[in-house]
Amino acid sequence: MSVKQSLQAAALRESLRYVRRNPEQNFARLIALIRPFARLPWHREIIQQAGEMWADPQNNWRRFTERALQQLAPNVAEKIVMNFFLNACLSGVATARTVEKEHDCNVPWAILMDPTSSCNLHCEGCWAGEYARGEHLSLEELDGIIEQGKELGVFFYLYSGGEPLLRAADILKLAEKHSDAVFCAFTNATLVTPELAAQLSEVGNVALAISVEGFDKVNDFRRGEGTYARVVRAMDLLREVGAPFGFSTCYHAQNTEQVASEEFVDAMVEKGCLFGWYFTYMPIGQHARPELLVTPEQRQLMYERVHEFRATKPIFLLDFWNDGEYCNGCIAGGRHYLHINAHGDVEPCAFIHYASTNIREATLLEALKSPLFMQYRQHQPFNKNPLRPCPLLDNPDALVEMVTQAGAYSTQRRDSEPVEVVAGKCREAAAKWAPVADAIWQERTAKQVKQAI
Ligand code: SF4
Repeated sequence: MSVKQSLQAAALRESLRYVRRNPEQNFARLIALIRPFARLPWHREIIQQAGEMWADPQNNWRRFTERALQQLAPNVAEKIVMNFFLNACLSGVATARTVEKEHDCNVPWAILMDPTSSCNLHCEGCWAGEYARGEHLSLEELDGIIEQGKELGVFFYLYSGGEPLLRAADILKLAEKHSDAVFCAFTNATLVTPELAAQLSEVGNVALAISVEGFDKVNDFRRGEGTYARVVRAMDLLREVGAPFGFSTCYHAQNTEQVASEEFVDAMVEKGCLFGWYFTYMPIGQHARPELLVTPEQRQLMYERVHEFRATKPIFLLDFWNDGEYCNGCIAGGRHYLHINAHGDVEPCAFIHYASTNIREATLLEALKSPLFMQYRQHQPFNKNPLRPCPLLDNPDALVEMVTQAGAYSTQRRDSEPVEVVAGKCREAAAKWAPVADAIWQERTAKQVKQAI
């Protein structure tokens, strides 16, 4: 860390402590204090927006900030702000852009890895279930990926699986060792105990994204009887000790209306979720159920609801498929993120089970330059409409071409599928979504043009 960065970090840490002492008064004072130092137009814009947000007690982002400050343990709030905003979003991104230029390859902002492919649940249609069970990335391998990633500017690490909390001890060790990074584990939360919740609060830089697919009946349909009750219990335990968590929801043909409802989002806020991450069902693997794919109407409903809630609810919401407009389409292939499965295969995305290299045989940088990743780099964005971002779900021919050109292999060792077969399962859904997405995007851009005039 340079002297300038250390000074920035110290200033940010002190500002946070100052605000925490009396958020009501001190947030506004801090804004007034830093306003004269804003040099660049976007600095002034952010400060202006923060000031406006705080001036309105009903503003959902003000309510979100107040909630986070009140709910999170002090060390957690400090670590999340420092590691996420300063290290991952500011200094990390700057390093990544330099490496990207130097090596002419994508360098991600976040890395998703699977500590294990094993899971204690057996959810119907789960993509992770298509990997062979019992595969693991060792503690040393996970550590090696993080060490290499930080060199490239990556300070945000996510865990999926399998059930990552089967490796809770290693996850805590890594968080402690890499106390400048921020971690998030996608978990079914059934293994959260009071002891684990306390350890997560103490280490401070690991958030849990808890899988929930609706209220009890709807959730338990795919995830198993009694799972919802265990999720709610885990949320209570985490909240009690000020550990950070949110929900992670897969929306499909049978639950979209429920998880897109105000009632569901309000319940998650009530339980203490600070963020919510929506994914849509993908028909991956030979046991996939394409009938669970959402209809265009359901995908549109989710798009509209997430926008509405983002402007009104005190929670940070993301929609992995419908938020392409904020990042110019697909983020995979190392453009903003990549996935390393429990066998070490470096995949462009958790939903794309093809690779041309394995982290046990290549460095992270070599993996970023591997044929499939270079195909992604050459072809992104896959569609002019960012609401049709995916090379599988929205533009299946693009994935067939890239996998073929790269000579990539299937990473589903137990149940490998030719890319043409996987793409074939998405063609109908892609064709139906295209006119709906184009109409939404046309209307949205027309509105933006009107506002700009
Ligand atoms: S490959 Fe598809 S699912 Fe993965 S990041 Fe890109 S758009 Fe999203």
